[in-house]
Amino acid sequence: MRLRYWTALAVTGSIALVVIFGKGHPEKDAAPLVNVAPLTFEPKEQNPDQTDKADDVVDARAPALKNDNQDSAIQDAEVTFSRAVGVGESLYILLAEAGLDAAIRAGVAAAIGSEYDLQRLKPGHRLDLAITPDGTLQTATLEVEDGVRIHAVFGDGPSVLTIPPALDTVHRAGETEIGSSIYAALEAADIPTRFATDLELVLAGTLDLRSALGGGEHLGLVWREGRLGDRVIGEPIIDFAKLDLGEDRYEILWPQDGAKTTRIYKNGQHLLAFEQPIKGARLSSAFGPRTHPVHGSLRMHNGVDFAAPEGASVHATRSGRVAFAGPRGGYGMMVEIEHARNIRTIYAHLSSVEDTLKVGQQVSSGERIGRVGSTGTSTAPHLHYEVIVGDSPVPPLTDTHLPQLGSGPPNIEDDPVDIPTARNTLARLLEQQGADGPSAQN
Ligand SMILES: [Zn+2]
Repeated sequence: MRLRYWTALAVTGSIALVVIFGKGHPEKDAAPLVNVAPLTFEPKEQNPDQTDKADDVVDARAPALKNDNQDSAIQDAEVTFSRAVGVGESLYILLAEAGLDAAIRAGVAAAIGSEYDLQRLKPGHRLDLAITPDGTLQTATLEVEDGVRIHAVFGDGPSVLTIPPALDTVHRAGETEIGSSIYAALEAADIPTRFATDLELVLAGTLDLRSALGGGEHLGLVWREGRLGDRVIGEPIIDFAKLDLGEDRYEILWPQDGAKTTRIYKNGQHLLAFEQPIKGARLSSAFGPRTHPVHGSLRMHNGVDFAAPEGASVHATRSGRVAFAGPRGGYGMMVEIEHARNIRTIYAHLSSVEDTLKVGQQVSSGERIGRVGSTGTSTAPHLHYEVIVGDSPVPPLTDTHLPQLGSGPPNIEDDPVDIPTARNTLARLLEQQGADGPSAQN
């Protein structure tokens, strides 16, 4: 983000130089070219270093939370120019139409370009400017895809930030009879087909879906969608699944409402709880042989992957001692923690390791050890998480060694949603949707 920012600044040429060097070198050339100070802003950190754990939850819904501070920042200045981008128009064309001179236009483009690639500008995106009667630009806000706004404040303490849309969370439910495959059954029932992957990943090692399904099994699901008006924004998130296989019933509760663990129940009995190193993140790759995303060949995947945005907090899943922290080959930036009984966990492809983390140091369960990145052999930001027992990697979801350690096994009683509640939610939503149609539920 910062790199793009400086690149954007560099292309504004002399303007940028005036501001970068102007303050310390008040030569004549550096006299203000513009009556605003658009070029000294610092892009705000997407992930400020904060200890408030609640803010660290990764969830496609998280960006949807309304932020009153950000909204009020926008309302501070009165919008005096507002227009949608037309076909073939650039940001510069709109800024010129608003009467801003070339230097300020470049400053605005640099500011917004630091958070958003202006090549992606499309007809329908909207620019709002707040300009005082004397012609001073106060704020520029560009609304882009999915209601996301890039908001630049000029003047004292200028800043640029990306404001996620304020989405409504809508809970949905669906049920389907499985025929040839879960994927086909979901598609036929108009349920997001990505849940087939969620189910397969979470049940890997517990239940072989391919051999367990003969057709005729019943599947019920509860999920969440983020909506802006009638539009669904982002990916739906699965919360609960109930799979009836005739003899056996499997139920899965994904982390929601602050829960830390994914839990699987068989015939109503708790089977296993998997504590996640990133709260709320989706599993994106299972343990075991797979076609390697970079090398293309079939290789053993020694851990599980979590899809999470760059900078999301990564937490130790059990207490232990830091055995390694730093770059290691294809793992990129990583942390290795040694727990009791020769059990280790590895957290790889990090963008950064927690500043205070040193080899030999004790960390407690749930403590933040670093942030998600894409270092090493990686195609996109994600966390690669391994559990190693003795010398062998074990499947993290079904491993029982780590949960058995005395240093704080997940207490499922603490999780806010239990199986009876989840079953009730499924039944209630199905009944309501049957009565009102699926879009009426909240
Ligand atoms: Zn991996």
